[in-house]
Amino acid sequence: MDYPALQFLVESSPEPSPDELETILQTALDCRGLDLNQAASLLQVRDGRGIERLLQVAGEVKQAIYGPRMVLFAPLYTSNHCSNACSYCGFRSDNTAMPRHRLSDQEVDDQVRCLLAQGHKRLLVLNGEARGSFEEILHVLPRIYAVRWEGQGIRRINVEIAPLEVEQFRLLSTQGIGTYTCFQETYDSSLYGLYHPRGPKADFAYRLDVMDRAMEGGIHDVGIGALFGLAEYRAEVLALLEHARHLEQVWGCGPHTISVPRLGPAPGAPLSRAVPHSVSDDQFKHLVAVLRLALPYTGIILSTRESSTLRSELFRYGVSQVSAGSNTAPGGYQNAVGQGEEESRMQFDPNHSERKDLMGTARQHDDGSQMQFALGDHRSLEQVIGDMVDQGFVPSFCTGCYRRGRVGQDFMDLAKPGLIRDYCLPNGLTSFAEYLEDFAGPSLRDRGYQLIRSLETQITPRGAENLRRNLAEITRGERDVYV
Ligand code: SAM
Ligand code: SF4
Repeated sequence: MDYPALQFLVESSPEPSPDELETILQTALDCRGLDLNQAASLLQVRDGRGIERLLQVAGEVKQAIYGPRMVLFAPLYTSNHCSNACSYCGFRSDNTAMPRHRLSDQEVDDQVRCLLAQGHKRLLVLNGEARGSFEEILHVLPRIYAVRWEGQGIRRINVEIAPLEVEQFRLLSTQGIGTYTCFQETYDSSLYGLYHPRGPKADFAYRLDVMDRAMEGGIHDVGIGALFGLAEYRAEVLALLEHARHLEQVWGCGPHTISVPRLGPAPGAPLSRAVPHSVSDDQFKHLVAVLRLALPYTGIILSTRESSTLRSELFRYGVSQVSAGSNTAPGGYQNAVGQGEEESRMQFDPNHSERKDLMGTARQHDDGSQMQFALGDHRSLEQVIGDMVDQGFVPSFCTGCYRRGRVGQDFMDLAKPGLIRDYCLPNGLTSFAEYLEDFAGPSLRDRGYQLIRSLETQITPRGAENLRRNLAEITRGERDVYV
């Protein structure tokens, strides 16, 4: 269905009656997803009790498939050079006030060590689109994987970069990446033209077809997304669902993840000060819940663009992966080391050699002048983890599926019958126990282990056996344990 047809569907779908709503929600509870008409109907719910019920069912579907796990990652910007003119982004070429910087090899190593020192294991690597930006990514990927901090390294790198040719994807697929992500920004081609007046990104169709080229080029897991605020949000949600359906139909596997960035303030970006189709917090919760119900097995990613309060709510309605302790400037992480980590081992040991080394090489970006956009959640990774634990969520750094080859179609085959619970919750809990052993202070450690013990009963017998074995290995000092 093309975009005007989706817009028509949004406009012509009536608000469902309470009975009609309940029928759709009962279908959603089967965890087999929803069709476009059902999703369009859910997007029309206005009645307060209807919305409450919709959010509640989205929470139930999320709980049934993902349990209490929340996957954590951090973005790493390698450069803010860009030849595009996206009117919402601080990196846009017309923003001449922005100091441009490309990380040196030494800086890449320092950034990665900073992130490892906080406990991160999963990164999302990004950059602007400029001459040599693809080669820059090819260069840094093996470097990032090679960096060690106290014997630990990054275990999964996802990549979010400008659209590539099939042959470039073939090269990228040999670098051990997890997911390739690229947001369409808006699926409305005329608005897209307005917001992307110059540069390679002005080509709407080339961007729209990028995931087909990625799949053809051997990338198993792809992530799609729309920048909410650029166009009317309900049509964008339907377009995301159509994009997912297209990928499933053509490649036998839908997107691994959907991201829901919401347009926020960015330095030197006119559109970010006058959001054309602003999405309220309530509308945002509503749309996340509809995505969860329509695509139950697709990860939903939320970034630190949103406030901590809203993020906590969205964990309940469908979000399954979040960034934490983020910085959107290339080289911005050095300053973050130690900030707000009230209990961390690093703070207990101020003479820690790695920490001194990192602080010594810090570049100063505290004015935020090189950031792509402003953040809504400024908490450190440890603070995010503490809050998650207090709300009963399990922070997960697990990379087991990807490293065991449970990716793409195989992952979906495994995930759909729910078998993933034999692996995911035990692996997630194990990766959390590893974090508790290596990074948490006494209070978080106690609360964390209490949470792990309280969840042991929720796992399948096979999963429980996996967990017991894994935890015993972690306590013995083994690391990077997964099934
Ligand atoms: N430069 C590449 C591109 O545009 O495809 C890589 C991704 S870019 C570094 C990351 C994403 O940030 C963009 O796709 C866009 O959706 C988002 N973004 C840009 N400006 C933003 C803003 N002001 N608020 C929220 N998200 C923004
Ligand atoms: Fe460049 Fe990406 Fe920002 Fe557009 S969104 S200006 S392409 S970094």
